[in-house]
Amino acid sequence: MARKKIIAGNWKMNMTPSEAVELINTLKPLVKTEDADVVFCVPAIDIIPALEAVKGTNIEIGAENMYYEEKGAYTGEISPAMLTDVGVKYVIIGHSERREYFAETDETVNKKVLKAFEHGITPIVCCGETLTQREQGVTMDFIRQQVKIAFLGVTADQAKTAVIAYEPIWAIGTGKTATTEQAQEVCGGIRRCIAEIYDEATAEAIRIQYGGSVNAKTAPELFVQPDIDGGLVGGAALKPDFGQIVNWK
Ligand code: PEP
Repeated sequence: MARKKIIAGNWKMNMTPSEAVELINTLKPLVKTEDADVVFCVPAIDIIPALEAVKGTNIEIGAENMYYEEKGAYTGEISPAMLTDVGVKYVIIGHSERREYFAETDETVNKKVLKAFEHGITPIVCCGETLTQREQGVTMDFIRQQVKIAFLGVTADQAKTAVIAYEPIWAIGTGKTATTEQAQEVCGGIRRCIAEIYDEATAEAIRIQYGGSVNAKTAPELFVQPDIDGGLVGGAALKPDFGQIVNWK
């Protein structure tokens, strides 16, 4: 069965709650589609007003992060139950900005992925190489390690429902998109890695996004690739362009 595309916006640390509602009202009519799952991953404080604003639409609301403990003395963190209690279905885990600025490691990513599944939240698991790693020719080795550790202890049935976002770090927020060949090569490599960890059925089911300066112009050529099942979109998710990206066909 063909995999349904999933196109998610990563709002990062942008949009106050009132701005979020305004943006959603602008984007609502533009992102209508039956061909793809559409997710807006928004800052924690925007989640509740965003959920209210998307009622009756095809838009799902996701979180940008979550902690791996159930509750307790973890000042500033958001628990999985806090997300599910209000109706959040997706959470971005291990975005490169969290790895770089907030000390996320492959191990914390794995803990968060396991916890998300425990609570029925779909993780969007991010991986991606630096420019140096690409130049050193170790891209796939590095990404295979990230993926293998992220999925430790995850069952095949859980993995089938997961989303992996391949985001070369050198392409995030830089205006530099990986070429379609580069993006397809790594997304195909990730699918083979999943087949090795699990089996062909799991590899066929899991959805793999490309992320890194995706825009309305580059989306169609990326999304038509056999192993690219949509995108994780930063900057362009805050603009009407996101409607064109979602309706890329
Ligand atoms: C991202 O933040 O996940 C991202 C891909 O950002 P941008 O589209 O702005 O490069």
